Amino acid sequence: MSEVQILESVRQFMARQHGHFVHGKWIAPATSERIELLNPATEQVIATIAVGGQEEVEQAVQSAHDAFTNDWANTSPYERGVKLNKLADLVEQHAEELAQLETLSTGKLINLSRHLEVAQSVVFLRYFAGWATKIHGQTMQPSIPSMNGEKYTAYTVRQPVGVVAGIVPWNFSLMIGIWKIGSALTTGCTIVIKPSEFATLTLLRLVELALEAGIPAGVINVVTGKGDTGQHLIHSSLVKKVSFTGSVPTGIAIGKQAMSSDLTRVSLELGGKNAAAILADACIDEILPTLLQATFVHQGQVCAAPERFFIHQSKYDEFVQKVSGALQQLKIGSPLDESSMFGPLSNQPHFDKVKHYLHLAQKNNQVISGGHAIQGTGYFVEPTLLKVQGVDDPLFLEETFGPVVDVIPFTSDEELIAMMNHSRFGLTASLWTNDLAKALRLIPQIEAGSIWVNMHTFLDPSVPFGGIKASGVGREFSDAFIEDYTELKSVMIRY
Ligand code: NAD
Repeated sequence: MSEVQILESVRQFMARQHGHFVHGKWIAPATSERIELLNPATEQVIATIAVGGQEEVEQAVQSAHDAFTNDWANTSPYERGVKLNKLADLVEQHAEELAQLETLSTGKLINLSRHLEVAQSVVFLRYFAGWATKIHGQTMQPSIPSMNGEKYTAYTVRQPVGVVAGIVPWNFSLMIGIWKIGSALTTGCTIVIKPSEFATLTLLRLVELALEAGIPAGVINVVTGKGDTGQHLIHSSLVKKVSFTGSVPTGIAIGKQAMSSDLTRVSLELGGKNAAAILADACIDEILPTLLQATFVHQGQVCAAPERFFIHQSKYDEFVQKVSGALQQLKIGSPLDESSMFGPLSNQPHFDKVKHYLHLAQKNNQVISGGHAIQGTGYFVEPTLLKVQGVDDPLFLEETFGPVVDVIPFTSDEELIAMMNHSRFGLTASLWTNDLAKALRLIPQIEAGSIWVNMHTFLDPSVPFGGIKASGVGREFSDAFIEDYTELKSVMIRY
């Protein structure tokens, strides 16, 4: 095993006594309480972070509010775009440092941290930078009757909502933070970010780069901590929008709180139990590499990845045999080793949750391949294929958010659609077929916010992303995010 050399700058960053980042400066935490961050591959402490209380959260929100009213909302769109592009350049220049911080914190394979987490963060930042100069309203001609020859005209303008609270999960600690920062800053909003308590370091490093990029103090603030810190943030009266990505129970609780807090705007990007349907005509050998990569990327800890494979009965045996064989070939190992193909789960509570589902499957004899946690140090489990005991089986219904996938045969399109939609979630789905006419007929019947054909788990900034049913509210990317981060103001003029 040969692991990549950890950069000296990464070592030094991890060794710092991190505080909160407020108004362009590190502020000392109000209490001495610290959270230990563990490397999930070694279970060793790599850094500690502060726990933000009401006082620090209020300071951060006030700073974002001041920066909004005095500075950022009045910065020209061109200038906002230039600064976001400059931040993208700096992320690119510090790519290896950020990739190593991500891998050490989340167990993401180093090449995935480099080529997906960091490289895509740059792509998203540049995409958002481009929007700054393209946000506009419309003109209308009202039809109000004219009694004395008066005329009317009307127009709309989009104005930034103000301070955004961005609450981020651990699975893509940098990129999901950047989705929120990019959306907020390009529309003229300012932001307070609360990173995950399991994967905090990349965003702490990013805010230093943002200052270097010329983004004014207070436009991006970071307060670290657990759910309680997030709670203080949501309840602040100066927060005008909450952008939350995380689990369904937390999302529903946050949605209710935001609504009861003077109807604070809220967008929720939540979990899924996503379906991939392999139709009768699909060539298993052809689809397998793409399907398996989309499913087991980052050990299945991707909200958009499939957890339920539906396979036409005629291909079921071939599919199961070939997938089991392929999974056994995946080299499980240190995420810092460039030759590893499969790393650890990202943190202990999540490891325990996935082990619970593996035990359940073992108890009921449902394991087809894999099914075990790997003995030794680190939160490693085998990539796993399961049978289910009908559509009311918890393994069919509940999100494991791990490398644990059900295989379910089907015989007719009606049966397929009924089973795919038998879920409280509606985030993503895919169809694997060369029969485009059939795919086009099935797509409207599938309850999911994103549907792919012959691909899955690909997020692109130009394509809107978000869930239906319990998978969320609101859409990110494309021009869809603009509605969430701006108020539409109408103006009518009589002349
Ligand atoms: P989580 O809900 O436990 O935590 C997410 C964030 O919310 C963390 O920063 C956490 O500290 C904070 N938080 C927790 N309780 C809170 C509370 N009461 N008030 C305010 N903040 C609170 O989720 P997680 O375990 O970090 O992430 C995994 C989940 O995220 C999975 O369900 C996954 O599907 C989902 N996810 C969804 C998307 C998407 O775009 N739809 C993307 C990534 C992850």
